[in-house]
Amino acid sequence: MNAGHYGLAAGVKAWAPRLPLWALLLSGYLLDVIFIVLFALGIESFAPIDPANPSYGAVLIHAYYTHSLVGALLIAAGAGWLAGRRWGQRNGLVIAAVVFSHWILDLIVHRPDLPLLPGNLGNLPLLGLGLWQIPVASALLELALVLGGAYLYFRSATRLPVPSGESPAGHRRRVLTASIVITVLMVLILVSDVLGL
Ligand SMILES: [Zn+2]
Repeated sequence: MNAGHYGLAAGVKAWAPRLPLWALLLSGYLLDVIFIVLFALGIESFAPIDPANPSYGAVLIHAYYTHSLVGALLIAAGAGWLAGRRWGQRNGLVIAAVVFSHWILDLIVHRPDLPLLPGNLGNLPLLGLGLWQIPVASALLELALVLGGAYLYFRSATRLPVPSGESPAGHRRRVLTASIVITVLMVLILVSDVLGL
């Protein structure tokens, strides 16, 4: 899942208008950002279920540190602490929750490949509800997150005070443009994921 994480993060703007959009989007995707680093280092990896026929969601992800329950909680706590120093305690908690939301969404779509403990310590059962096995359902879930998140972002951004030096109409136009741009980007990400581009 890519677009769904961004959609959820953008929508959180409604509850934390002071947090910049980039911080929310980065938080929603943070586990995968660290995954990409560990992937490059050869520590985490992923494998298509049928290498000859790769398709949307048909993948097992061996992200035993970043995507372990305890690992995700630790990353969320660290990001929340950093954000709290900059944007205040409440916004820090919001960032921590957005970072952890990644694990919850992954839990819904992944086949069982998410460990409880970092490094899959103790070989405990792997978690994952496997919605990816019904690609239409998981694509619709992502689309709902993208459209719902974009709408919440638009609605909350239009309610922010108009910056000095900007007319109300100009402010609304700028927010509308930003909303359309992020919606189009998220839909493009979803379409390219589903079509395997
Ligand atoms: Zn992930």
